[in-house]
Amino acid sequence: LIRVEHVIKEYNHGAVKALNDCSLSIQKGEVVAIIGPSGSGKSTLLRCLNLLEVPSSGHIYFNGVDITDKKVDINLHRRKMGMVFQHFNLFPHMTVKKNITLAPVQLGLKKQEEADAQAMKLLERIGLANKADEFPNMLSGGQKQRIAIVRALAMEPEVMLFDEPTSALDPEMVGEVLDLMRDLAHEGMTMAVVTHEMGFAREVASRVIFMDSGAILEENSPRFLFDSPQNPRTQAFLSKVL
Ligand code: ATP
Ligand code: MG
Repeated sequence: LIRVEHVIKEYNHGAVKALNDCSLSIQKGEVVAIIGPSGSGKSTLLRCLNLLEVPSSGHIYFNGVDITDKKVDINLHRRKMGMVFQHFNLFPHMTVKKNITLAPVQLGLKKQEEADAQAMKLLERIGLANKADEFPNMLSGGQKQRIAIVRALAMEPEVMLFDEPTSALDPEMVGEVLDLMRDLAHEGMTMAVVTHEMGFAREVASRVIFMDSGAILEENSPRFLFDSPQNPRTQAFLSKVL
């Protein structure tokens, strides 16, 4: 579904090399967890997948199309990639339902009534149908993040990209967000998840990628990566976080 080939990403005219020759592929239905120390390039890699960051060199293929090709209309492809960040960026001046229906309606993918019905279904699924007409500031962090996730789902994405979706949450709200992500994974959603939640990565991921200094140093099934890491830097990182 996604193939990353030899991607380099530099900032500040080459002063910072955030990604140094990264290659990976993500198959349909896979859940790929991306772990590694702060500054290792995890967010940059994730943001390159939907071209929120444009690679300095290398290619990214989505459904076989080279989206790094300047002739490609990235917006058409980006619609199929849902993204959820650490800080749920719901629109504060719109109701929950409007937040969810905005993109599909504005892009002409759905009529408002259709989008409303879909939004209510999504909200029912996460037990928040009663919040449809409230504004985001009335909700808890966990509720906001779950709504940010279903808002992305309203676009019927082929892949969901998560960048530390639980890091900004109070501890008691982490579980409800991870539960929703686990459900999505079990339904077969293709996911790439940057996370510090090693328990989640071990239990839900089909593959774990360890990054350090802008490079993918190791990738394996969670069982192998967590129980017998091969790279000394993976070992050192895991000994600190596990
Ligand atoms: P964290 O766990 O702290 O979120 P990360 O693994 O996501 O870290 P990135 O945010 O991808 O790391 O950053 C990788 C490197 O690129 C870091 O050295 C960072 O300082 C640098 N970097 C990221 N974004 C920019 C930017 N917009 N301009 C300049 N440098 C940047
Ligand atoms: Mg990051």
